Amino acid sequence: MEFLMLIGEKLGHSLSAPIHAMICERMGWPGAYRLQEIPKDRLAGVGEAMRLMGIKGMNVTIPYKLEIIPQLDDVDEAARQVGAVNTVLNREGTLIGYNTDVYGLTAMLERHGLSPMGKPCAVLGSGGAARCAAAALRQMGAPGVTVISRRPHAGESWGAGVAFAGYEALEGMAGGLLINATPVGMYPHSDTCPVTLRQMEGFDGMADLIYNPMETLFVKQAKALQKPACTGLYMLVAQAVKAEEIWWGQAVSACVTEEIYQHMLKEMTP
Ligand code: NAP
Repeated sequence: MEFLMLIGEKLGHSLSAPIHAMICERMGWPGAYRLQEIPKDRLAGVGEAMRLMGIKGMNVTIPYKLEIIPQLDDVDEAARQVGAVNTVLNREGTLIGYNTDVYGLTAMLERHGLSPMGKPCAVLGSGGAARCAAAALRQMGAPGVTVISRRPHAGESWGAGVAFAGYEALEGMAGGLLINATPVGMYPHSDTCPVTLRQMEGFDGMADLIYNPMETLFVKQAKALQKPACTGLYMLVAQAVKAEEIWWGQAVSACVTEEIYQHMLKEMTP
């Protein structure tokens, strides 16, 4: 049996354990995945504990995706570019950091037929998820990405083609995809939305990274405007599949990802 885990500050609503259990079960991998809440003042010991206890793989979530980096021996290029690690592989005592969120988001947009190709796009929020969204959109062919923030980051650089603006810039903005990478609209505050209908109407499609509730107010508003839209469940499943592939060094077929997604969708649909 190999030990796998998720660390974060608060993990009460996490869906990761059943998703990882299903991946291991479908693939016949002997992995036991557990959740471990870590208080901020104990994070410094996590890397050494992983080596000492021979834990094969770790996922990292809010608020430790950046803070974990100094404890790692190496960080792969994609994670370095995004500046965040959500997956750690323990290769015989050497800890290597990866980011599978960009892969997960790209897979989700493709799965739902949402393409940013050739059109400027916008991302709401400026946290770790927004960084992933900006990277994914650029990789998928968006010529430019505007990061919409309550406090636009003057002087900061997220790479070529990424600019910052306030919410007022959305009025009259036209583009490909609008992605919600803020926690606004997440359960139990499901009746909130970070933008108005008017601020959404210039975009061709929308994606919300939130997966609880399954249909956020942001997505309901997109549908009211007759725009294609999705919430973040497929991303959650796809980034977990990618993490397992890194830990076990083997590919998982797209059918397994789809099957687990459908299973979770059924579980979460009221
Ligand atoms: P975060 O760091 O807590 O917040 C992201 C940004 O949202 C903040 O930097 C802030 O940007 C904005 N924001 C926060 N509270 C706000 C408020 N009350 N009103 C307006 N804007 C607000 O979170 P994160 O880690 O980036 O994650 C963002 C969302 O993505 C979460 O809902 C998370 O669950 C989801 N997510 C989903 C997946 C998935 O697999 N589906 C993966 C990762 C994250 P400004 O201060 O610049 O406005």
